[in-house]
Amino acid sequence: MNGIRYKIVDKVMDVPLQNPSYPGFFMGAYKTAMASWVAEHALIYRPSIETLGDAPLVRINSACFTGDIFGDRRCDCTEQMFSALDLIGESAGLLIYHFHHEGRGLGFTSKLETYKKMDAEGVSTFCAMREVSNRNDLRTYASSMVILEDLGITRLRLMTNNPLKKQVLEENGFEVVETVPIVSKRKELKSYLKSKCAEQGHLIDFGEESSGDAAEASLWKRMA
Ligand SMILES: [Zn+2]
Repeated sequence: MNGIRYKIVDKVMDVPLQNPSYPGFFMGAYKTAMASWVAEHALIYRPSIETLGDAPLVRINSACFTGDIFGDRRCDCTEQMFSALDLIGESAGLLIYHFHHEGRGLGFTSKLETYKKMDAEGVSTFCAMREVSNRNDLRTYASSMVILEDLGITRLRLMTNNPLKKQVLEENGFEVVETVPIVSKRKELKSYLKSKCAEQGHLIDFGEESSGDAAEASLWKRMA
């Protein structure tokens, strides 16, 4: 990989996940560092790193405390994570969860400031983010790449709607053999997802008008 200065300073792998919804899954942890900046990353995978095979399914997943922990429904992050885990459960694969990607890397405080502005002014997420922080995305995928490289994964099927992730991986020597979309069907998210397409170039096929109620029920069953 060109110019990536992150290094791995610690890792723990192969801790069984005790969750009956995800039998056979394992958890792992990586700690990466760049100069004095140290970050932790969570992994969840099945059936094992050694048996993922050529070009496994991979999800590079940004943390979303508001959605993943508190069940806030402004965004589709949590549904994307569950969809990715479902796909991994059907075959095999790996999800890397980046804690420090909260609020697109801007942090939890900026995220809540953004939400206050959205609620008060009715503006889009990205418009509010720019007003709060002048930026709308500070995430990089360098840590993901050093982790993938350490795991011996150089070819992958990437679960994402975001062409930038594919581009960054390919620019750094990874071969993305397929992009697997993961799209929320919750009706109230449609304008948010459209702003993702307009503002961040996401590729989302809205397809048939959704079974929004089913998607809602599925999400809340997981959050229960
Ligand atoms: Zn989110």
